[in-house]
Amino acid sequence: MSGQEKSWKELTIAAVSPSSSVNFLTGDWKTYMPVCDFEKCVTCLTCVMLCPEGAIRWKPELGQITFDLSFCKGCGICANECPTKAITMNMPEKEE
Ligand code: SF4
Ligand code: SF4
Repeated sequence: MSGQEKSWKELTIAAVSPSSSVNFLTGDWKTYMPVCDFEKCVTCLTCVMLCPEGAIRWKPELGQITFDLSFCKGCGICANECPTKAITMNMPEKEE
């Protein structure tokens, strides 16, 4: 094995990742990104449990959830399953 690991973009379709998924940032897959309206959030943490990328974290010190956009792939499951519709999927603003 060479010391240089491939990125997910270089892997053959259906290949098995040679290392921890922590090293594969899936955030650049997304078209839409989740945004939470904390006025509507009741901190049920359903979104934390259902995010397939583990990209939503409960931060007790903040008293709210946060999104790790390096791993969020924009699937929209969190927005779809949120019981209070606190999460919306928005287009990221393009950098000039
Ligand atoms: S599912 Fe909705 S209400 Fe529950 S913690 Fe997530 S954003 Fe808040
Ligand atoms: S859009 Fe998908 S990947 Fe991103 S935080 Fe929501 S459930 Fe997780």
